[in-house]
Amino acid sequence: MRKILEGLSRFQREAFAEARPLFERLASGQSPEALFLTCSDSRIVPELITQTKPGDLFICRNAGNIAPAWGETTGGVSATIEYAVMALGVRDIIVCGHSDCGAMKALLDPEPLARMPTVALWLKHAECARFVVQENYAHLGAQDRLALLIEQNVVAQLANLGTHPSVASKLHKGELALHGWVYDIATGAVKAFDRTSGRFLPL
Ligand SMILES: [Zn+2]
Repeated sequence: MRKILEGLSRFQREAFAEARPLFERLASGQSPEALFLTCSDSRIVPELITQTKPGDLFICRNAGNIAPAWGETTGGVSATIEYAVMALGVRDIIVCGHSDCGAMKALLDPEPLARMPTVALWLKHAECARFVVQENYAHLGAQDRLALLIEQNVVAQLANLGTHPSVASKLHKGELALHGWVYDIATGAVKAFDRTSGRFLPL
């Protein structure tokens, strides 16, 4: 905790002072470009990897970068999506999965979930991805299956997003675009889902 409090103090003295005009402008409202839905994993820092500033990204994070299909769970994620689309008018939604994702590892090797019933329930929203990997890629090694599951989960969550009325309506009007990314922690590389080929290609 001490490191965090020292960081806060340094932010107020240095970083805030340097960017004061930006923060003063943001004090009266926000107009972010995109909703960035990613994992809670401490190694993913959306503003760092996209080199964006405060006010640029509306961020929603949870274990496994999951967006439950509309109507399945009325919770914070669904409300955040609706608010971003309807109130803030974001033009893009990025679902960003990542390498070495603990949530995705737990889907492949569910034993630890016996002690985490809430996580286990939450990960049901990624069952579609797990099943695709189980049925089609069972012959692959553990690392390859994990990499595929991470990608398939992003694809599944993009599909889930489309079930949200706000998202569906804006997609219909051409006022919103969905993007699927996978960020590699070791290299900083990002692959994006290409709908034409159905594959993830380097960005
Ligand atoms: Zn993760």
